[in-house]
Amino acid sequence: MPIVTELTRLLGIRVPVVQGGMQWVGVPALAAAVSQAGGLGILTALTQPSPEALRAAIKETRRLTQKPFGVNITLLPTINPPDYAGYARAAVEEGVRIFETAGNNPKKLIEYFKANNCIVIHKCTTIRHAKSAVRMGVDVLSIDGYECAGHPGEEDIPGLVLLARAAQELKIPYIASGGFADGRGLAAALALGSQGINMGTRFMATVESPIHENIKKTIVEASETDTVHIFRTLHNTARVFKNAVSTEVVRLERRPGGADFQKDLKDLVSGQRGRLVYENGDKDYGIWSAGICIGLIKDIPTCEELLDRIEKEAEEVIESMNKLRVVKAKL
Ligand code: NAD
Repeated sequence: MPIVTELTRLLGIRVPVVQGGMQWVGVPALAAAVSQAGGLGILTALTQPSPEALRAAIKETRRLTQKPFGVNITLLPTINPPDYAGYARAAVEEGVRIFETAGNNPKKLIEYFKANNCIVIHKCTTIRHAKSAVRMGVDVLSIDGYECAGHPGEEDIPGLVLLARAAQELKIPYIASGGFADGRGLAAALALGSQGINMGTRFMATVESPIHENIKKTIVEASETDTVHIFRTLHNTARVFKNAVSTEVVRLERRPGGADFQKDLKDLVSGQRGRLVYENGDKDYGIWSAGICIGLIKDIPTCEELLDRIEKEAEEVIESMNKLRVVKAKL
């Protein structure tokens, strides 16, 4: 029996799983594989070097799947300012109708998408930001806990509390993000009032993920203690894999007087350098995002195998909880 939620109905998908935007990873091959498998695949706009390249990526994704997919646009500090409006326009003009937005000051972007009849899933790390996004007109919130890869905000609220707070406060559908990698997590998210889950790190270790095999193996071998926060002192905290470069960044930030982004950190943390990790397979070459759920990942399945398994596991957990109710009733 498929798990039908407000999310699956709204997006026209079978499994309530969204593949979160991932810099250098959210490319057509992965997004299409996730959508083909029944979830929502997402292309990461800024992974493409220009809005024109994003148009080509959208066309390529459409060639690979006829199922719905979305585009992620993340508004955070960058070394070179991207043409956010240009990426948004290119995607809308190419007919994309589902967007994942994240980061700071998304109002203009959200208004543009809503004016073009798009569905907007907005990622937030606090209830305050979630409420503000509701006022901007988003359709779904992606509630991103402390466990997440990439940028968790500065408040450090773990998913368990943040999602329960979302259940108390939010009147629109939300999905659970940060720390999710299996069916047990999906069942837990549903119990916390979510209409589905968002997964990033889990999808990095799939057959269709475009990253080097060594990095997929590194993910499988890693434990839940293998990530670290960088940029804490710059109020742009990011959870990344704990390696030679991220350890050095944290050391520099902890020096008396802290670290200056331009002078001390820029060359170490540049996304262009991080991208090469995924190409050369050297886990210590640069910074790469990973969430705490890395400790849950034990294999490299296809996206189809993964989503089928998650669906089945979640159903089993929900069923076993129903049985608990029956046992209780008999006492
Ligand atoms: P980049 O090379 O421009 O920057 C590398 C890292 O340094 C990023 O985490 C960025 O936020 C941070 N940074 C840049 N300038 C900074 C400053 N002045 N002060 C503090 N921190 C600063 O980034 P990139 O790898 O090319 O990625 C492009 C954008 O996408 C960044 O904003 C990044 O944070 C964001 N991102 C998106 C996703 C996603 O899923 N869409 C994932 C990871 C990062």
